[in-house]
Amino acid sequence: MKIILFGPPGVGKGTQAKLLVEEFHCAHISTGDLLRAAVKNKTSLGLKAKSFMDAGDLVPDDVVIGLIEEVLQPEESRKNFILDGFPRTLPQASALDGLFKKLNLALDCVISMEVNNDEVVRRLSQRLLCRGCGRIYTLDRVPEGDRICKSCGGEIYQRDDDKPDAVRRRLEVYQQQTKPLVEYYQKSGRLVTVDGMYEIGYVHKLILDQLYRNKTSA
Ligand code: AMP
Repeated sequence: MKIILFGPPGVGKGTQAKLLVEEFHCAHISTGDLLRAAVKNKTSLGLKAKSFMDAGDLVPDDVVIGLIEEVLQPEESRKNFILDGFPRTLPQASALDGLFKKLNLALDCVISMEVNNDEVVRRLSQRLLCRGCGRIYTLDRVPEGDRICKSCGGEIYQRDDDKPDAVRRRLEVYQQQTKPLVEYYQKSGRLVTVDGMYEIGYVHKLILDQLYRNKTSA
């Protein structure tokens, strides 16, 4: 299985990707997670990416394309995977098509998760996460003085780019640079859409329905 999870910030791509990984035991390739790890470790990639990420802008195409090429290099990591947060621009989509061709891989489908802007702002302003394991929490469920992760004991924090100004910028960027990919993948018949306004378990079921439908029609 090789799928792309696509959608605006806050639609729940990361959460759904984790559920699909449990179900299908595939690799979860999240460019956001890879970039955050690079920033945390202060690698040269992280140093290049940080200011773009903090402002809610996209990291330059050549940087993220290079990152994906590297991640898909080992044969083991490209058997079954979910791409979460990549591609986000037309040049990235076209580079990915080229890479699939070069590596002789076939994309099964692109799942476009949809949600309205008010819900994006509501979800992201509530979102906290663990620095250690990435577990997601909501602000109203974590007492101010107790920001310790129940799974790994790591610190629970709010991403800089989940703060209001950066969220607004990320939504603009999504509309301008990422949304055109809907048409790109629609044209090639690889896009299925899922309503991301429902609760997590139901959205997961909708995604599975689409994946199985896709498989039987292939
Ligand atoms: P995410 O965790 O997917 O919301 O990504 C967080 C941030 O990482 C984004 O706002 C971008 O700054 C950067 N980023 C992640 N994936 C990409 C990508 N495919 N292209 C450019 N920037 C990206």
